[in-house]
Amino acid sequence: MTMTQALKPAMWINGQAVHTDHTLPVIDPATAEVYAVAPDCSRSQLDEAVAAAQKAFIHWSAVPTAERYRLVNAYIDRVTADTEVLANLLTHEQGKPLPKARSEVGAATFFAKGYTAVELKPQVLRETPTQYVEQRHRPLGVIGAITAWNYPVLLAMWKIIPSVLTGNTIVLKPSPNTPVATLRLGEIAQEVFPPGVVNVVSGGNDLGAWMTEHSGIRKIAFTGSGPTGKRIMASAAGNLKRLTLELGGNDAGIVLDDVDAAKMAADLFWAKFSNCGQVCAALKRMYVHRSVYAAVCEELVKFAKTIKIGPGLQEGVDIGPIQNRMQFDQVHAVIAEAVAEGATILYQSPVPAGPGLFLPITILTNVKPSMRAVAHEVFGPVLTITPFDDETDALRWANDSEYGLGGSVWSSNPERAAVLAAQLDCGGAWVNQHPAMGPEIPFGGVKGSGIGVELGRAGLEEYTSIQVLNIKR
Ligand code: NAD
Repeated sequence: MTMTQALKPAMWINGQAVHTDHTLPVIDPATAEVYAVAPDCSRSQLDEAVAAAQKAFIHWSAVPTAERYRLVNAYIDRVTADTEVLANLLTHEQGKPLPKARSEVGAATFFAKGYTAVELKPQVLRETPTQYVEQRHRPLGVIGAITAWNYPVLLAMWKIIPSVLTGNTIVLKPSPNTPVATLRLGEIAQEVFPPGVVNVVSGGNDLGAWMTEHSGIRKIAFTGSGPTGKRIMASAAGNLKRLTLELGGNDAGIVLDDVDAAKMAADLFWAKFSNCGQVCAALKRMYVHRSVYAAVCEELVKFAKTIKIGPGLQEGVDIGPIQNRMQFDQVHAVIAEAVAEGATILYQSPVPAGPGLFLPITILTNVKPSMRAVAHEVFGPVLTITPFDDETDALRWANDSEYGLGGSVWSSNPERAAVLAAQLDCGGAWVNQHPAMGPEIPFGGVKGSGIGVELGRAGLEEYTSIQVLNIKR
C-alpha cells in the first residue's frame, strides 16, 4: 500500500473526529510498507481532550451505576460485532496472524465482560447505635492511558473498561507503532458514550510525556517498558498522579525432572513464542533439570520445526513478523552477541524472504547469566535453555532478575511444582502453564515489572479512591 492509498484514521476528542496537521506513518511489518497515516496530536489538542474529559466527568461520574454498566456492556457488544474489522487492522499494523488477531479481540471483550461482573459496592465497616462507618469507592477523574504495541486492542480495553465503569473519563494514547485499531475502538465508543467520556489521541513519545505531566489528568494507567515506566513515575510526581505501571518481564520457567517432555513440548514452546515472543509475561529463560534436558531440547526443536512463519494474512501461518524495525535490529543483535560470547544455536527456523520483518524462532543453549539474551528482557522469538542439577540453584537463577512479572514450574506432579512456584519472586506464579490469566484474576508484577495490577476486583479498585463516610449518631 502506498502513501496515497494509506488509511487515514481520526482521533476522537469530545465525541468528534479530529485530524491533525502532522501525521505519523504506520508500517505493516509483513511488507515493511506504510499501511496507514495516523494523527500526530498537538499539545493544544491534548489540552482539548483533557478539558473534554474533565467536563464529561461531571456528568458521567453521576450516572447511576446500573446505567453505566449497561452502556459499558453495550460498548463491549459493539466491539465484539466489529471483530473482523478490528482483527484486519491488527494484523496489518501489528503483524500477528489473522486468527490470532481475532483471538486478541475475543480476549479483549471476554476480559472486558469480566470487569462488568464486579461492582464496588459500599462496605459497612462499623455500625453501632452511636456510629456508622462506610467505605466507598469514588472515581478519580480523568485517566490518562498509554499502551504498548504487542496487544493493542487487549491493552486498550483493559484500560477503557475499568476507567469508565467506575465513573472516570479517559484520554487514551496507543503506541505510535500500532494506533489504528485503537483509534477504531475510539470511534465505536462515540456510538455509545456521551461526548468526552472516551477520548483517543495518537502521537509519539512526546505526547505520552505531555500526558504524564498534565495537571488535568489524575491517574496514568501504563503498559510498556521499564525505562519508560520510570520516566513516567518521575513526571507524574508533579500533581501526585496515581499510577498503574505494567512493565516488562524476564520470566523464568523451571522444568522439573519428572516431566513428560513430549507431552509438554507444545505448551512450553507457546509459553515463549506466542505473538512472536512479544509478550511481557513470556517464558524467556528456561531452566531444565539435567536428567530431562536432552529430551526437552529434542522435543522443543521437533515442535518448532512444525511452525510456519509468514505474513499474518496468509493462511496457515502460526507466527507473523516482529512488529517494528527497532525490535528487529535489537533481537538480531542479542542473538549475534550471545553466539559471539559462546552460546550455541540449538535451532533456528527458516524465515520468508523479502522486506518483511521476519525473525527466526531461535533456541539458544550454552548461555551464561551475564549474556544479554539471559540478563535482559528479549522481546522477540528467542528462548534460552540452561540445565540445572539442584532445584535451589534453579530457583535462585530464576529470581536473579530485576523483573518479577511471572514465573512457572513444570512437573507431572502439580502439588510438588506448586511448592517451588510459591517461592518465585514475581506477581504470577504458574504451574504447567505460562502465562495464565483470567478476568477475575489480578495480573501484575513486582520489582522492575511494575506497580499495581490489572483485572479482577483489585484491578477495578485501582481506578478509584477510597472515601470513608463516618457518621456520629
Ligand atoms: P515503550 O515503553 O517504548 O512504549 C509504551 C508506550 O509509552 C507507547 O505508547 C509510547 O509512545 C509511550 N511512551 C514512550 N516514552 C514515553 C514517555 N517518556 N512518557 C510517556 N509515555 C511514553 O514500550 P513498547 O516498546 O511499546 O512495549 C514493549 C514493552 O512493554 C516491553 O517491555 C513489554 O514487556 C512491556 N509490556 C508489558 C505488559 C504488562 O502487562 N506488564 C504488557 C505488554 C507489554
